[in-house]
Amino acid sequence: EANRAFHPDNTVVTIGDASFGDGSCPIIAGPCSVESREQLLEVALRVKAAGATLLRGGAFKPRTSPYAFQGLHADGIKLLLEVKKETGLPIVTELMDLSQLDLFDEVDVIQIGARNMQNFELLRQVGHTDKPILLKRGLANTLQELLMSAEYIMAGGNHRVILCERGIRTFETATRNTLDLSAIPMLHEMTHLPVIVDPSHASGIARLVKPMALAATACGADGLMIEVHNDPAHAKCDGPQSLTPGAFEDLAEAVRRIKPFAYKA
Ligand code: PEP
Ligand code: MN
Repeated sequence: EANRAFHPDNTVVTIGDASFGDGSCPIIAGPCSVESREQLLEVALRVKAAGATLLRGGAFKPRTSPYAFQGLHADGIKLLLEVKKETGLPIVTELMDLSQLDLFDEVDVIQIGARNMQNFELLRQVGHTDKPILLKRGLANTLQELLMSAEYIMAGGNHRVILCERGIRTFETATRNTLDLSAIPMLHEMTHLPVIVDPSHASGIARLVKPMALAATACGADGLMIEVHNDPAHAKCDGPQSLTPGAFEDLAEAVRRIKPFAYKA
């Protein structure tokens, strides 16, 4: 059950040095997609030095256009595991289809992307794994629907679910999506599960990522997920919303300063 009424205490999901739901605000950072060993290792070392405690990177990419870069697939997972070994950072990566699950044995957190939030069979099956699941809110899904999807996972016995607000579709086109900040305190009322925010996909614009990250932290987010690239201008995916390692360092520092003032119900 995801419902707060049946479970008054917060669920805390711990992966390595990161705990989601204990009042801290761990940061997951890394490139949109894994492109090469050099790219991933450089980004990983820089975000780790700046305070990130998990590394993200897509190997299977849900791209709107079938002609866009789709990720390195199995080779991408291999690179993530190599960089995990070198840096000690646990990894978060997206599972798009059950046929890929065998490759995820050593992955630390399985991400279910916004486009698969209601892929009920996928949810049911990851509910039978022993891995924490990062469940992203669908582009046009309500908070109640997000919680129902979490329950599909939990029904299999896997209670380590982290919810992620990543912006929703509205009439506004100036930003890629519209960050629903009210989702943070509202979900905290509705559920005991941790709630993190991804201001990168929510805004789609690198210069908006820091203000949205600070706002999310102030609203009580249990963590953040930030896209970082060593060369955003040449990124194969989501360059316009990717921070340089330097800009990420600045964001992480600002988040730490604002965290003590975060809203608590
Ligand atoms: C991602 O995090 O890589 C991603 C594709 O995000 P979303 O599913 O939120 O669009
Ligand atoms: Mn992306």
